[in-house]
Amino acid sequence: FRQIDGELRQIILPVLEVPFANQDVESAQSLDSLLSAEAAVPFDLTESPLLRVTLFTIGPGDVVLAIVAHHIVVDGWSLAILLQDLADSYGSLMNGGDPVLSALPVQYADFTMWERQLLAEVDNPGLEFWRNRLSRSTTPLDLPADQSRPGTRSHRGHLLAFQIDSALTAQLKAASRATGGSVFVATLTALAAVLHRYTAATTILIGGPVANRPLPELEHVVGFFANTVVYRADVSGEPTLRELMSRVKDDALSVYSHQDTPFDQVVRAVGVERGAARNPLFQVAVAHQRQPDVLFTLPAIDATPIVVGNGTAKFDILIDLQERSAHVDCTIEMSSDLFSPGAAGRLRDHLLHALTAIATAPDTPVSLFPMLSQNERDQAVTGWNPSSAFSVESSVHARFERQAGERRLDVAVIHGATSCTYGDLDHRANQLAEYLRGLGVGPESLVAVCLAPSIDLVVAILGVLKAGGAYLPLDPSYPEDRVAFTLADASVRAVITDAAHSRLTASSDAPHVLLDRDRVVLAALAGQPASAALEPDQLCYVIYTSGSTGRPKGVEITHGNVLRLFDATDDWFSFDHKDVWSLFHSAAFDFSVWELWGSLLYGGRLVIVDRNVARSPREFHALIRKEGVTVLNQTPSAFKHLIEADRLLAATPPASLRYVIFGGEALDLQSLAPWFERHADSHPRLVNMYGITETTVHVTFRPISALDVRSRTGSVIGEPIPDLQVYLLDPHQQPVPIGVPAEIYVGGAGVARNYLNRAELSAQRFLPDPFRPGSGRRLYRSGDLAKRLPNGDIEYLGRIDHQVKIRGFRIELGEIESVLRSHDSILDTVVIAADG
Ligand code: AMP
Ligand code: MG
Repeated sequence: FRQIDGELRQIILPVLEVPFANQDVESAQSLDSLLSAEAAVPFDLTESPLLRVTLFTIGPGDVVLAIVAHHIVVDGWSLAILLQDLADSYGSLMNGGDPVLSALPVQYADFTMWERQLLAEVDNPGLEFWRNRLSRSTTPLDLPADQSRPGTRSHRGHLLAFQIDSALTAQLKAASRATGGSVFVATLTALAAVLHRYTAATTILIGGPVANRPLPELEHVVGFFANTVVYRADVSGEPTLRELMSRVKDDALSVYSHQDTPFDQVVRAVGVERGAARNPLFQVAVAHQRQPDVLFTLPAIDATPIVVGNGTAKFDILIDLQERSAHVDCTIEMSSDLFSPGAAGRLRDHLLHALTAIATAPDTPVSLFPMLSQNERDQAVTGWNPSSAFSVESSVHARFERQAGERRLDVAVIHGATSCTYGDLDHRANQLAEYLRGLGVGPESLVAVCLAPSIDLVVAILGVLKAGGAYLPLDPSYPEDRVAFTLADASVRAVITDAAHSRLTASSDAPHVLLDRDRVVLAALAGQPASAALEPDQLCYVIYTSGSTGRPKGVEITHGNVLRLFDATDDWFSFDHKDVWSLFHSAAFDFSVWELWGSLLYGGRLVIVDRNVARSPREFHALIRKEGVTVLNQTPSAFKHLIEADRLLAATPPASLRYVIFGGEALDLQSLAPWFERHADSHPRLVNMYGITETTVHVTFRPISALDVRSRTGSVIGEPIPDLQVYLLDPHQQPVPIGVPAEIYVGGAGVARNYLNRAELSAQRFLPDPFRPGSGRRLYRSGDLAKRLPNGDIEYLGRIDHQVKIRGFRIELGEIESVLRSHDSILDTVVIAADG
């Protein structure tokens, strides 16, 4: 094929010499690699021949014949002709005669002229057909890839061979007979069903080669006749497998009657852009041929075909079906750009399960047939969820009191120039508890705490717990209407605030304790250690979360929820009394629960961070150094600013830091690049923890290394805390395979008791655990989307509810920013409707 005067020309030679090489093979192992290497040697399209033959000799009477041809001169059908001609010629030579091949009525060039005429016709009905059926469904399938798609396909691939055995083939034939289908239609149906389960797409386009030899004269011609067609499976409206198969069959029939329109013309007619990243119109293809059981017979020779991968992939996924009389030989060819070899094995299993369901239970809905293998299911349900249990003592304050008893003179809390020892803190909290008990506060009563970050805030929280009550933190920077809503919704027994903030809570009729105004009264109380003895399942705090839908709701967290959080993560962090923590986050955000008790339950030191310091990365950076903070908790957006300050201010990171723990929103690994340019990843250790208020601060754990930042893009959140379970479930609460996006459900000892006073909403979000029926255990349904990486690591993808509704409350720009950041992977459009 040469370029002549700017035009591509086929040059037809009168005679062609085909090189025939001989090569000895040392071992069966080296045969595989020799064959793959031979298949991978490229052709120069401007030089003949575009065919080469090698005879590999393994031993006496044991040879492998390798025929390699470029696709531009042959197709699958041509290879069968070639083999037949070869067998005939071999036979003639063995009989002492000369090979004689019958003359052909037409040549390939005749076919090309004919096709050109056909296409020159205006209003080609074939093009019209294809344009109509494809122009509205050109969104590429979002396949569950292991790697992200490169901008330019490398065409590297891997191959997996398997069989649809004779038993299943017989069942499929019987099932197809009833519907007028075929084994091919059944396989196309199975593939469409699996791809629907992978992607949730309801229109599945699957490409496929067709022989495209519409005239008997063309049946014996060698050349590239094959064309590509596009099957379209309509999986909308929750069809059964039987219904889907009948749709697929009807579609295939209409495709066959328009199979001769050349694919490149179809692509042009439909108007999709060709790109280097993916094949146009379809990403998955199926090839099917009926084949004799014995492909090739030579006199006195036993010949069997060998499947050779040449390390390439023509599409993202190509399934090749060679249908024999009683079984089907299959291969899966997958793009190595996207898939690791394990993905082919999973797809094979899923296809076989779909085929089995089609054969034995065709009335099963496509969304419900059992797709996963038992192994995959076990892995998803228990393998990745090794559930430990931690038995905890009575209450959070009891554990605090044990520390306070041992460390009366150690500093517990520092705020600017003032500090408070464990002994003082314990005593002041006892006094407040005594006062609160006088107001009727006891187990299960809620006490609102509306204070700026301060030592008083810590006293207030401890006082509430010691009285037996549960605290409801109110952020004093919140707008009045939000505070009023929360107070009314929660119907609190008492309010703890100070003179500066008492107007904010004035809407509540409950008795108010003003820590500054009432200081003298409180200080006069005996404050005898007399903490309420509680059970671990009694209420510790209620935090309101706005979530992304509807009005804020209070989440009821128990003492046991909090205590087991620290016990279950202890092996990872080994926090102790030498640790210094910052209270950076608002008490109304549950990250503060981790900061507060992470220091005080271990005898460590808590550094109160003023609001204006929290907003100034430079001042905060200085505070970390001054106080020798060892455990730093940050949202990724806050840490981004701190990285910048760190770069501007210091030659070395704050040396004291042991951990930087991320939470609250998606972590963009790339944002850490400037950090790792300057700091190693062992000290401090960076850890991403995904969490939800409804499951007690944290759910997962994932140390982040410099290597992650270099080699990954997704927001990895790791593995569950050992006493929690994370399930990725489809809308029918079935586990999904590796790589398939699904909703995060969380089970285990961190799951909240309920939403406060919201029985109906609680029943919607806290569901009976489907994997432990009758156990009384519940799963929290998060509304978050994630996928499992092949090593079990979980990657966060965003929120499921694309619609973010925040109504009736003033929201700070920072809040919008963090909502957007945690959504940006799936959100198409953001509408912010502002009034006032
Ligand atoms: P909230 O309960 O209000 O604290 O918000 C919990 C939500 O924050 C989760 O449902 C996630 O959408 C998001 N989130 C929390 N931590 C992470 C994290 N490490 N990575 C990604 N998203 C997170
Ligand atoms: Mg929430």
